Amino acid sequence: MLNDENKLKCRKILERNGQVLQMMKVSEECAELSQAVCKVLEEPLTRDHSQERIEANHENFKEELVDVLVVATQAVMIAGLSEEEINQRAKQKLDKELNKP
Ligand SMILES: [Mg+2]
Repeated sequence: MLNDENKLKCRKILERNGQVLQMMKVSEECAELSQAVCKVLEEPLTRDHSQERIEANHENFKEELVDVLVVATQAVMIAGLSEEEINQRAKQKLDKELNKP
């Protein structure tokens, strides 16, 4: 999903910080995305329905989503997954989901 320029930057950061720190980042960023998703989903249940609050929640969601894509790209590098293997595994999961009744 990231372009070649950004993938190269991901690799440089991974080489600078090391695998352990970047794997900790994966965990951290996934937790932040989870929180951001919850805030968006909880919007109808909160007292503050201001447009400002809604826009802030959606902006935060986009920010955290991109953070996860960046660290997921680094995790793919750490795992040594090829694009072909990712797509094979994705196909299996998507087919399984599509075949659910
Ligand atoms: Mg983040």
